[in-house]
Formats: sequence, structure tokens, C-alpha cells
Amino acid sequence: MNRCRECNSVMTKEETECLACGSVLDQKSGIDHVGKGFATLLSMMFFASAAITVASLFFDATPPFSKCAVCTLVLLVVKSSAAQMLNKEKS
Ligand SMILES: [Zn+2]
Repeated sequence: MNRCRECNSVMTKEETECLACGSVLDQKSGIDHVGKGFATLLSMMFFASAAITVASLFFDATPPFSKCAVCTLVLLVVKSSAAQMLNKEKS
């Protein structure tokens, strides 16, 4: 369910224009959802990578610790920059 950004009245998903005040719904909302999904995916990958990194300290079956650590760091940087990007779009 959407809400009008101008007057905060309830809008259906099909409505692109507010019935109460006539302001056009921000079409970026679709991109927002993709961005959020991407950010969620990134954090899931980050936590998985972090878990494997910790596991690599104790188990031989996992990839080398150095590779895992680098991968986790890269994911952390990408994750935080994606979060920053999302916050910038909101404001
Ligand atoms: Zn409105």
C-alpha cells in the first residue's frame, strides 16, 4: 500500500496520482524496492561470508582464511556504500 508523500492519504498500488491532492506518486518507489532487495542480498552474502571466514579458522574444508577475509571486507564495503546510496535517494 502506498501513501501520498504530500498529504499522506492512502493510495492503491494502481494509482499513480493522489486522489486527495492530485500530486503524482514518486515513480522511484520501484527502484527503491530493487535497491532494498539488493541491500538485503548483500547483507546476507556478507553474513554468510563472515560465517565462512570464522569457520575457516577452525575447519580445513573451507577456503583459506585470507581469501574469506578479503571477500568479507569487499562485501562489507559494497554493502555500506549501497546503504549510503539508498539513504541519499530517500532524502
Ligand atoms: Zn496527496
